Amino acid sequence: MTDRPVAIRLTGLTRAFGSVTAVDGVDLEIAEGEFFSMLGPSGSGKTTVLRLIAGFEQPTSGTVSLFGEDVTKKAPFDRDVNTVFQDYALFPHMSVLDNVAYGLRVRGVGRRERRERAMKALASVRLDHVADRRPTQLSGGQRQRVALARATVVEPKVLLLDEPLGALDLKLREQMQVELKQIQRELGITFIFVTHDQEEALTLSDRIAVFSAGRIEQLGTPFELYERPVSRFVADFVGTSNLFDEATSELVLGRSGHHSLRPEKLVVSPAPTVEPGFRSAPGVVAEAIYLGSGVRVVVDLDQGPRVTVLEQNVGGRAHGDHGDHGDRVFLSWRDADVVALGDASVAAQDETPSRTLRTVGAR
Ligand code: ADP
Ligand code: MG
Repeated sequence: MTDRPVAIRLTGLTRAFGSVTAVDGVDLEIAEGEFFSMLGPSGSGKTTVLRLIAGFEQPTSGTVSLFGEDVTKKAPFDRDVNTVFQDYALFPHMSVLDNVAYGLRVRGVGRRERRERAMKALASVRLDHVADRRPTQLSGGQRQRVALARATVVEPKVLLLDEPLGALDLKLREQMQVELKQIQRELGITFIFVTHDQEEALTLSDRIAVFSAGRIEQLGTPFELYERPVSRFVADFVGTSNLFDEATSELVLGRSGHHSLRPEKLVVSPAPTVEPGFRSAPGVVAEAIYLGSGVRVVVDLDQGPRVTVLEQNVGGRAHGDHGDHGDRVFLSWRDADVVALGDASVAAQDETPSRTLRTVGAR
């Protein structure tokens, strides 16, 4: 991690609902000031972990500690955390300012200080100019920023965000991602951000925990997860990848075991590459799809597997230079870009959380 103090420590955290183990022995340390994301498919246990940290849910076993204090048995309002949900319900009959000040009123903060602090929180999300409006007079993105101001005004040390941008359309979401990052940096508080959107997690986070079936499949920086996925699941969930099983690894890559090779690490050319450290394989272009920023070329290799290549639209190459349907081509890649995967299906079931942490190198 870093040399910053630990804000949150989860130890053997488990939560079962009847026969469903929603969270299954999660061990995790999150540093103060970190932008930490929990990424995983729907049902992988992300929301339950957040609810356990917030205290809305009690673990079946394991502990939650905040800033060195075991808070497992403490009520939500006794924990120095606040939550922003996807369905951030603002009070429609109150002004934006009163919405933001609400948490302070509940805590018995006086009227004048309430106003000052709420205005400051609104300024931090650049909405102080709409303080007197009603929530219905704002856009979706503005309402989400109000929800953020409402959560930060009470100055929690940790902010939990459960898919807070999920209801926004793509353009707005990308804009809000930048703002979120900025706000987090300015406030300097720990963000724990839940998303099922890998791109969002990669963009925002200092570190990411990839969840699968209630467990952490891999923990690391965006770079580590993308460049060195430990399993088929992570390679496939974080970005897209060409996955090679034992048979195709042997044939195409000349290696034993399971492997991943990212589409952008491959190049299409009329001849094989002879440079040292590179490998090539012949095939036939099945599809070449123009994407604007690049070209996606799907190639059926002579040795069997179908592989996707992503060529950036740079260097003045015209559409068609990457090959067209039916063309015979060679794919080339740097041998060093091939990533060895643990046997994913086994790893997902048999790896204990502590071993998962060790595998990716707890720093
Ligand atoms: P995610 O947020 O990653 O989509 P959740 O934490 O919401 O996942 O859910 C994890 C699993 O736990 C799912 O199988 C879900 O159906 C189950 N679950 C969550 N909350 C409850 C509950 N209150 N009662 C029963 N099952 C639940
Ligand atoms: Mg959820």
